[in-house]
Amino acid sequence: MLETSIAGSLPRPDWLAEPETLKGAWKLHGAELEAGKRRAAADWIRHQEDAGIQVVTNGEVFRSHFVHGFLEGLTGIDWQKMTRMGIRNNRYELDVPTVVAPLGRPAPVHLDEVRFSRSQARGRFKFTLPGPMTICDTIADGYYGSRPALAMAFADILNAEARDLEAAGVDVIQFDEPAFNVFMDDVKDWGIEALHRAMAGLRCTTAVHICYGYGIQANLDWKASLGNEWRQYEEIFPALNASRVQQISLECAGSRVPLSLLRLLPDKQLMVGAIEVTGTHVESPEEVAATLRAAAEHVELARILPCTNCGMAPIAWDTALAKLRALGDGARLLRERRQGWTG
Ligand code: ZN
Repeated sequence: MLETSIAGSLPRPDWLAEPETLKGAWKLHGAELEAGKRRAAADWIRHQEDAGIQVVTNGEVFRSHFVHGFLEGLTGIDWQKMTRMGIRNNRYELDVPTVVAPLGRPAPVHLDEVRFSRSQARGRFKFTLPGPMTICDTIADGYYGSRPALAMAFADILNAEARDLEAAGVDVIQFDEPAFNVFMDDVKDWGIEALHRAMAGLRCTTAVHICYGYGIQANLDWKASLGNEWRQYEEIFPALNASRVQQISLECAGSRVPLSLLRLLPDKQLMVGAIEVTGTHVESPEEVAATLRAAAEHVELARILPCTNCGMAPIAWDTALAKLRALGDGARLLRERRQGWTG
């Protein structure tokens, strides 16, 4: 009951990379860098387990960006041809590489880190991959000619990768699709089709993470512009409920998402974000329990999986650790209390 997990990323420690920023530069090189990544992952896995997080990740400490970390292992992408691109419908700008030829995956991209991380985790292990639509919103296309065509090409490559990772013992494969909250028509037109293609044939648990983005300033400004009620999920949840993905990760803590929208996902397990990913406030276990309890007003408790709103990569290391503990403690609090109420 109330199986806890996190959306995915955790801060890379300040001895490993420039902290508290998106895409902070590595501070180590060569063999030292590889050893450092492993040490950071093992530390985070242990901290998650100590905090009572039941489905752990490696904190995504092996990559400097959640999309580009995967793309770096593929062929067909020109990293010298960087294009400054408006991301998520021009919410912020990022220098992105360009697809210049048919995409290929000469070898598994994340297999080594997954084998190592899997060996460190005592319980269930989740691995996150960028979703095809979000990749297409984070790279320039100089070859395929349309976003759906590019997305399907990425989906096939993601599927090959996901199968390799499943075979290495990953229990949950999660595709991160923050773009689903921005291009709602595309989700219905081709986004879910691409997601299905990426997860085809998988026997492990499948999940999709749809959020309002990291707690970086551009996202905070965007959220402030969305009005009193954030209803983006309302447009895509019916289609997602009809999809084959099993778990849906969404943002509930400190957000203006009406929790009644959870009712649009009657057939899914819901990773309810009960931890904000801004660095300014550490939730108390009481606050976490209250967020989860509020979600349980709308959906059965048995389908609720306590989670963070999004990745915590850009926030301070100590803050992220405190938030992990609050999440574990808050879920524990609710498990103890549920004897007392009938909801
Ligand atoms: Zn997110």
